[in-house]
Amino acid sequence: MFAVNAQIPTPKSVLGFHPTDDRTIADWKQITDYFAKLDAASDKVKVEEIGKTTLGKPQIVAFISSADNIKNLERYKNYNFAINNPQITIAQTESIDLTKAGKTIVAISCSIHSTEIVASQMSMNLAHDLATATDETTKEILENTILLLIPSANPDGIDIVANWYRKTLGTKFEGTSPPELYHHYAGHDNNRDWFMMNLAETRNITKLFWQEWFPQIVYDVHQQGQTGARMTIPPFYDPPNPRIDPLILRELGLLGYKMAADLQRTDQAGVTTNATYDTWWHGGFRSAPYYHNSVGILSEAASAELMTPVTINKEALSRPNPSRGIASMLEPATNIPDPWEGGVWGPKDIARIETVSALAVLEMAAKFRERYLKNSYDLASKNLKPSNNEPQAFIVYAGQPNQEPVARFLEILMWQGMEVHEMTRELEIIHEQNDKNNFHEMPLGSFLVFVNQPQKNNVLSLFEKQVYPKRLNAKGEAEVPYDVAGWTLPLQMGVETVAAWNIKDLEKHRSTLKKVENINQARTVLNLKPNKTSFDKLPNPLKSSPKIGLYKGFTGSMDEGWTRLVLDNHQIPYTSLMDSDFREDKLNYDAIILPSISERGIVSGLPKERYPEEFTGGIGESGVANLKKFVENGGKLICFDDSCELVIKQFNLPMKNVLGGLSRAEFYSPGSIWQLDVDTSNGLAKGFNKQTPAYFINSSAYEISDSGKLRSVAKYAEKDLLLSGWILGEKYALGKTAIAESDFGKGKLILFAFRPQHRGQTFGTFPFIFNALEK
Ligand SMILES: [Zn+2]
Repeated sequence: MFAVNAQIPTPKSVLGFHPTDDRTIADWKQITDYFAKLDAASDKVKVEEIGKTTLGKPQIVAFISSADNIKNLERYKNYNFAINNPQITIAQTESIDLTKAGKTIVAISCSIHSTEIVASQMSMNLAHDLATATDETTKEILENTILLLIPSANPDGIDIVANWYRKTLGTKFEGTSPPELYHHYAGHDNNRDWFMMNLAETRNITKLFWQEWFPQIVYDVHQQGQTGARMTIPPFYDPPNPRIDPLILRELGLLGYKMAADLQRTDQAGVTTNATYDTWWHGGFRSAPYYHNSVGILSEAASAELMTPVTINKEALSRPNPSRGIASMLEPATNIPDPWEGGVWGPKDIARIETVSALAVLEMAAKFRERYLKNSYDLASKNLKPSNNEPQAFIVYAGQPNQEPVARFLEILMWQGMEVHEMTRELEIIHEQNDKNNFHEMPLGSFLVFVNQPQKNNVLSLFEKQVYPKRLNAKGEAEVPYDVAGWTLPLQMGVETVAAWNIKDLEKHRSTLKKVENINQARTVLNLKPNKTSFDKLPNPLKSSPKIGLYKGFTGSMDEGWTRLVLDNHQIPYTSLMDSDFREDKLNYDAIILPSISERGIVSGLPKERYPEEFTGGIGESGVANLKKFVENGGKLICFDDSCELVIKQFNLPMKNVLGGLSRAEFYSPGSIWQLDVDTSNGLAKGFNKQTPAYFINSSAYEISDSGKLRSVAKYAEKDLLLSGWILGEKYALGKTAIAESDFGKGKLILFAFRPQHRGQTFGTFPFIFNALEK
């Protein structure tokens, strides 16, 4: 298909190997070097640094388009900004028919999950081919679209994986995942941050997308397990989120079927649609765009073992019901018309289907350019029109006890391109939808977020409670959603907001609303010191200086990573503890935190068959004995969720998790916000209200059988437990213990049944951790 232009360097001429060949891997330096050389040689490619990663590496985007478009990037950026923001008048664009003059903006991002490594390698070949091909389809793509190619959304992780792969290549450990998180803080959860902005990489790309370029299509390229579909593509599985415009879902389906048809034209078997992944959850790379009027695409190719091919036999494909929407990988069905029979599967196969899929998307974007631009304009315009079924605004009111989370909340909204206004006079509002007369006064210094913004659905989806539909399978068991069921940001962050269904005399008072131009304007209103940089560190909340150890180990626990992020962001010093510290009794700390890791993960660690000995074995029995001695001698042990299991068993505590033995037909709650009843007389609850929201994600609920030394610091509410998301079988958890405290020897145990630091999002429950750490 592609003709080679001699002046443009091939990836092989720069790297010394053809990327995506078996057992080769390019690290981030090599990838960025290649893109720099391509930029220098081709007038169709322009590479920009969009910021630094968590570990300080350059994060890049390559703009790829016709030479003429590349020369005029700024102009097309302005056109697309105007198309997506009809409320703002932009000089020089008023008299232009923008949907005729503009280009479809397509973003393709690779290997955010860096063990899903092939796309990052493929990106160099894709860029080279687009820059050199002379066929009509490529010309049309370059003429009508501007591609924002992100070779990796997680450059730090590319190096972690490349280093590990090279270290283990040719050994019996070749192809295993690294024995650490492949994102410094988040690991796999780096794709759970897209409304929260906890990570530098998320912020860099969110700025590129939703402050600057407003891509019509965002394609996030992933890999899944080895024995499922060869590729899973849109349309996706149920349930869709009601806050996603149906037009977006239809356009998503259309692009998915184009990908499916093109893959079939290359005889690729085993491709599925309408399976596994849903469009409920917010916060992923491809799901956040839905709330910005953009079509978010995910493809999941079957994996090899990093860059090493695998052989998949038919038996491995014969599991019944391998995923939602698929009864069998081997029986033809409408959503898998050509099952794959098994065989060798390697990086070249993955790269080939990812390339076909990327070109299918680009071809559609080119052929239907005007349609995509008009969709953007129509959706944004529609969102600016008021509706009786939605509030006019949400108010973040003045005078809240914890101002830092309020400031962070506003910063998160503004970074995603939401408009926020400061109230410079009191306004009277009605809270309830159908209430006509009951006006409440909102104080001066409150903030107001209008619903009628181009990204209206993002405003609603982040402020509202989620009501996940009750979905049961034929056996009456809860059907597991792809990710969480609820995420309401003010509830997670402990920020008090209220819906304003009617603002009295809004038009008369509109001029008294002052647009918040930057976060320091908001911080001044909140009486907080200005920040030097965006998303500055938060002040250390501790009054004392405890010596803190945080268990890390080698299993790559995301919960450990998020705990580290919360401590780092609050400038609380700590030491990461490895397995050997426990085995060798180096536990000279005031407090030790065990993040949510299973007993097996902590005690047994990684298996010797898969990893070199230095990474295996966990803390072992000796580590458990030393941990016990640590508490008996006066130490404080703080456990989150899964790790409580180890402590209850090993410390013989008279309590049990009442949810432990329940089937999925009896109880299920997959990531939801619950109400806690808090004993505010307990020191751990200092500063909390009697009722406080907390995040429950397949967590625990304790019954205490002998309350001699054990105290309940907080319980799950006796009624109205669910605040956002889904609970099946709520009765089992009502009134059960959510935080327990116990004396043990001279020391103390503090057990959280839930995760007070879940994904670094739950600012509302962070202070429980700070109180627990205080000496
Ligand atoms: Zn992935």
